Amino acid sequence: MRTDSAYPYPQTAVILAGGKGTRLGLTDRPKPLVPVDHRSLLEIQIEWLAGQGIKNVFLLLNYMPEKIQDVIGDGSRWGIKTQYVIEHDPLGTSGAVAQLKGKIKDDFYVVYGDLFSGFLDLSAMYRFHYDKQADVTLLTHPNDHPYDSDLVEANDDHRVTHFLTKPHPQNLVYSNLVNAAVYIFSPKALSHLEENKFQDLARDVFPRWLNILNVFSYKSFEYVKDIGTPDRIEKLRKELTFSKTPQRKALSQPKPCVFWDRDGTLVDYVVDLKNADDLHLKKDIEVPVKFLNSIGVMNVVTTNQPGIAKGYMTHAQLTAIHKKMETELGNRRGWVDEIYFCPHHPEKGFAGEVKELKIDCDCRKPKTGMFLQAKDAYNIDFSKSLLVGDSHRDRMAAEKLGVGFVAITDGEGKIDDLRPNVFETSDALKLKEFFAKYFKSKGINYDSH
Ligand SMILES: [Zn+2]
Repeated sequence: MRTDSAYPYPQTAVILAGGKGTRLGLTDRPKPLVPVDHRSLLEIQIEWLAGQGIKNVFLLLNYMPEKIQDVIGDGSRWGIKTQYVIEHDPLGTSGAVAQLKGKIKDDFYVVYGDLFSGFLDLSAMYRFHYDKQADVTLLTHPNDHPYDSDLVEANDDHRVTHFLTKPHPQNLVYSNLVNAAVYIFSPKALSHLEENKFQDLARDVFPRWLNILNVFSYKSFEYVKDIGTPDRIEKLRKELTFSKTPQRKALSQPKPCVFWDRDGTLVDYVVDLKNADDLHLKKDIEVPVKFLNSIGVMNVVTTNQPGIAKGYMTHAQLTAIHKKMETELGNRRGWVDEIYFCPHHPEKGFAGEVKELKIDCDCRKPKTGMFLQAKDAYNIDFSKSLLVGDSHRDRMAAEKLGVGFVAITDGEGKIDDLRPNVFETSDALKLKEFFAKYFKSKGINYDSH
């Protein structure tokens, strides 16, 4: 939603619509015209762009261009203007967009014609891009097969620092962050593309740009998926009609979330954990995590990490621990959507402590700062959410927030003052059953899964 007119929102989008659709078994039409509901994928994408305030759409075509021109026409059906650019030899995604040099003067969006992103809020992505003064912003998200995906690494400010392209070495430890193939380009970025040269944006161009342009990662929970196989398109049809997962994951929808404490809850409790090698996921914990992934409920980690303030763990060690956690989950095809940590600690007097982190902050649980930050970023509805934890700090935070509490009984220790109706368990499989009942009672339909 364009809630703030102070931003110079883009009016132009580019759709890479050159795909053949061989894997979809299409012979009479190109891939972007695959039927989804009563519309083709490309019509859905254009309707979405028009709804996002786009006025001009460039369609970059290669295979059966006339079929696409017949269906889409001049764009007046959606109140927009279309322009077609037909490449005669395939140029790759970079060469294709480079054809637009001189034709676009402002920031613009780039989307792929084989992607479904019909509920993505582009304006929110643009506000991020603008506030970061980025040259290129990539939409990113975790997925259920990170070990064979091209991965993105970003720092705490969301600046992209590395691209890790597949195939990956066997023991790669990674953050589950994948390029979702929706981009914002500045005119400066466009000017850096090389014309008449076959190159892929993600594999050939972006890695080179890290040294010369400001490239940022905008991490999103919204439903954005490549639907290039018959199985995937069938799944999309079901989800749009029955579970309505794509609609529910939209930023505009107040959404349910499971907040996980980390130590003793997601991972085995280790006193003062600071080495990634000592981190191990709790038995079967991927089962409830993956269940939530599949029904479109967020998994958010909130963890107090006072070891940073106390000076016995570095920020780099904490990053390594979280990578190990994401890798172990990712190798089992699950993911957490976001990780918030509090590095502070209120009591001074530890040898080697980091003075500026020795503060009475707003984020150390049972304070609610991390939860409020998540709510603000992802539009979380606390009344449909749960906090899973193993300590009285978790219990107190849940009570302050009005979030349901689930007690894990084999973590840090016994929890004081537990209310009689709180679900307690040490069994991840029982936790999954509890989630299933709870979210069904909150009106989340997942019967088609
Ligand atoms: Zn804090």
